[in-house]
Amino acid sequence: MNFYDTEKILALLEKHGYSPVKSPEEADFVAVNTCSVRQHAEDRAVAFLSSHQYLRKQGKFLCMLGCTANLYGEKLLQKYPFIDIVCGAGNYERLPELLRNRKRKVWVTGDSTHPFIDIPVANSGNVSAFVTVTKGCENFCSYCVVPFTRGKLKSKSPETIYEEIKKLVEQGVKEIVLLGQNVNEYGNDTGIRFTEILEKIASFEGILRLWFLTSHPKDMPDELMASFKNMPKLYKHLHLPLQSGSDRMLKLMNRKYTVERYLEIIEKVRTAVPDISITSDIITGFPSESEDDFWKTVSVIKEVKFDDLFVFKYSERPGTSASMMNDDVPLTEKERRHKTILDIQEAISIERNRRFTGKTDSVFVLKKSRKKREGFFIGRSSSNKSVLFESFGSHPGTLEKVVFTSADRHYLYGYSCEEDKKQRLLLQEQE
Ligand code: SAH
Ligand code: SF4
Repeated sequence: MNFYDTEKILALLEKHGYSPVKSPEEADFVAVNTCSVRQHAEDRAVAFLSSHQYLRKQGKFLCMLGCTANLYGEKLLQKYPFIDIVCGAGNYERLPELLRNRKRKVWVTGDSTHPFIDIPVANSGNVSAFVTVTKGCENFCSYCVVPFTRGKLKSKSPETIYEEIKKLVEQGVKEIVLLGQNVNEYGNDTGIRFTEILEKIASFEGILRLWFLTSHPKDMPDELMASFKNMPKLYKHLHLPLQSGSDRMLKLMNRKYTVERYLEIIEKVRTAVPDISITSDIITGFPSESEDDFWKTVSVIKEVKFDDLFVFKYSERPGTSASMMNDDVPLTEKERRHKTILDIQEAISIERNRRFTGKTDSVFVLKKSRKKREGFFIGRSSSNKSVLFESFGSHPGTLEKVVFTSADRHYLYGYSCEEDKKQRLLLQEQE
């Protein structure tokens, strides 16, 4: 979401005559677009600006943008004297004006009538692009700061989404990833179904691959599950955050589903699409999480066998209802649980990736591999796995038939079938 916003902010500022530079030393304004979902992200943003405060003596301005700006507003200017401009996510249309005025200690945050920046991003040369379809969230999971920083759910109109995608297609984009805190709630405020949007985008000729994230298990409609089967352009990959395998924890987290319901969804999608990749998010050490709660989570992880997991140590966020609870799991214990899950998942991920060895798949070519010598490419398999494959003639933004020969934690390895054909012809000629 932040990556997408940053591209949009760049496009907005370029429209107002600003241009990006390669280092903070060359800039008039240094801005950090912040995330505040966990304390660590916030700390890193502040540390970055703090380490560049010497630039202010040279007349430069330091700006804090994004969710941390929303969360603390004016207080940031008092707490960190080296910050000059604070501008929240959702107020970016005011940013050019703030920069033009060249005033220090100014801030703008809060709800906006223009939550989406309606300017096409610059051509990045990439064949894949993000497109935000919703802003905000009203689910109030008890640990989560997003409803406080991004405000109420707002769905982008279908016309705006299609226009944005058409412009990206003109720039050579062939893969679209639709973003929302819970895309399953797209249209709750406007009456339009998310699958309607998906179907329409899949009908665009220029688009070869499509994906969306994130889905909330509390609202997982059957028609969305069916789309993995019915829409060939859609990656067979569902990211469905579980957070915990203990019903007691899920209740305290205000997640509004049970482990049983979660497992029911997994079974349904796997029955419809046996090859589907399933990934998830887990939080360790939520207030009052006992050893028993933790092992319940481990047990679900072992049962589901996720393709991959994003595991986070619980981080208390200001204003959330969990921040009123006693954060009683010591950091060392949060870390131990975090590491235990990562270790268990590592073996499962390798096993899940190796199930493709020996199989052939249609891989979306993203780019040439920089690490490997000439003739290696990076792509995504039809179940959204990262692929490193050998081929001399591949082009980013196309689909390539690839045979998988091995796999590890992060990649499927293989070679292009075309390459195989070429090599065999070459051998025949030599014989
Ligand atoms: N909207 C998405 C997730 C947004 S944040 C959803 O509902 O799934 C991404 C992930 O960060 C969450 O799924 C959760 O696992 C983690 N997270 C959010 N707040 C957190 C907190 N306070 N401490 C630790 N992890 C957190
Ligand atoms: Fe946060 Fe829950 Fe909304 Fe996701 S659904 S953004 S975790 S409040």
